[in-house]
Amino acid sequence: MSQLVVIGGGPGGYAAAFYAADLGMQVTLVDMELNPGGVCLYRGCIPSKALLHVAKVAGEAKHAANWGLTYAEPTIDLGKLRGFKDSVVTKLTSGLGQVSKMRKITYIQGKASFVDAKNLSIEPAGGGAAQSLAFEHAIIATGSSPTRIPGLTIESDRVMDSTGALNLPDIPKTLLVVGGGYIGLELGSVYAALGTQVTVVEMTDGLLPGADRDLVTFLARRLETTLHKILLKTRVTGMKDAKNGVTVAMEGEGLADADKSQTFDRVLVSIGRRPNSKVPGLDKTGVAVNDRGFISVDAAMRTSEPNIFAIGDVVGEPMLAHKASHEARVAVEAILGHKVAFEPQAIPAVVFTDPEVAWCGLTEADAKKQGRKVEIAKFPWAALGRALAIDRPEGMTKLIIDPETERILGVGMVGAGAGENIAEGVLAIEMAALASDLKLTIHPHPTMSETMMEAAEVFFGHATHVYRPKKK
Ligand code: FAD
Repeated sequence: MSQLVVIGGGPGGYAAAFYAADLGMQVTLVDMELNPGGVCLYRGCIPSKALLHVAKVAGEAKHAANWGLTYAEPTIDLGKLRGFKDSVVTKLTSGLGQVSKMRKITYIQGKASFVDAKNLSIEPAGGGAAQSLAFEHAIIATGSSPTRIPGLTIESDRVMDSTGALNLPDIPKTLLVVGGGYIGLELGSVYAALGTQVTVVEMTDGLLPGADRDLVTFLARRLETTLHKILLKTRVTGMKDAKNGVTVAMEGEGLADADKSQTFDRVLVSIGRRPNSKVPGLDKTGVAVNDRGFISVDAAMRTSEPNIFAIGDVVGEPMLAHKASHEARVAVEAILGHKVAFEPQAIPAVVFTDPEVAWCGLTEADAKKQGRKVEIAKFPWAALGRALAIDRPEGMTKLIIDPETERILGVGMVGAGAGENIAEGVLAIEMAALASDLKLTIHPHPTMSETMMEAAEVFFGHATHVYRPKKK
């Protein structure tokens, strides 16, 4: 009998298992991989960021010509590059395996199915007889998987999802990225930096649907120079295996005839992710799944089966690692009888492209939708010493402020390294900070972090480095 079994070893599952063990529970963690890590460590956040780092270095080496430092075109040793990425993954996942052992967690490598609301059957990853496990409480943290284009995806090695693209099978001459969301743009940027001619096709009228348009504009402008083509309001209508590639049919507003049918060496389909809520045997429990396929939970992450909880991608958007880990702590504390709820004021999102786009809290578009009056303060990075010193003046910090209370409700940033600075915005929102708190907080000079302070000064009409008198 396990006091707690956690199904899925991603950033939701392992965070839950580790926290529960730290609080004295006897824990079993089940995942198909050799060590904990989940999608995030094995085929998501971490390998993509290792490759994006390489892309950044390649980009900066090119950019250095502007400052009189000219490097030759890089030669790329794909095996070594793959090895670097894989070594990062192995270091982190084996580290998690070790700290899991140190916490005396029973780690079972296998696939879990529910027998009923108190028992699991676990099929060992290496084959052999299934193992039964009775439990008092369970946390489902089974994550999500890439969505396929309904009726269009063909069985071809040349059509990849994010996992296939991260494997870096080769450096294709041409790549079509289907979907202009963050995963497509991050991986598309990696291939573009390695020398691939990348085309992005997006159904809606802009990249990163859902993100603030003021921020996306900066990214779109840069991607127009690093990518081959960005086709908006365009959809893929067919894919066919061709002799040396995949022939893709597209239709869209104003699409040139030449673009309507094109052959690409490879295609990356990144149109979203779907929750892994079809856990085998789940129908033998009282756990309910909503009409979008997410497991339904209350604010304490409890499903409709009182002893079963669920966290992470499998319970809803945003499908982000840090959201999963925070939900994990709530679920564990709820199991231990604490009065807790997952009620964040802000969950940050970062797109690790160049430039990075990051935001948290209320967006201007949300405010409009809600009919909520807000004041916007924007600080252009072109006026920031540090941004100019690294020759990356394109960027903006945008604060969404309640005009009555002067509380910070939302923060958006775009620019080099924006992702590293958004946490200050999250803290400001969580602590109910006022614009004056940001303004009066001494920020180190010269750093990108000063944009938060300067944007708050813009709100009062007296930013040091831009002239924006407050409208009377
Ligand atoms: P997952 O990490 O999906 O883990 C679920 C685990 O459960 C898997 O290991 C799976 O094998 C296992 N499992 C499923 N069913 C069973 C079963 N029946 N029995 C046993 N085990 C099972 N998020 C960020 O916050 N930042 C990023 O930069 C970022 N980049 C990403 C880049 C890419 C390319 C991708 C694909 C995703 C990225 N994400 C990023 C999203 C992030 O990976 C997910 O939000 C996060 O992994 C969700 O964590 P989770 O614990 O819910 O589940």
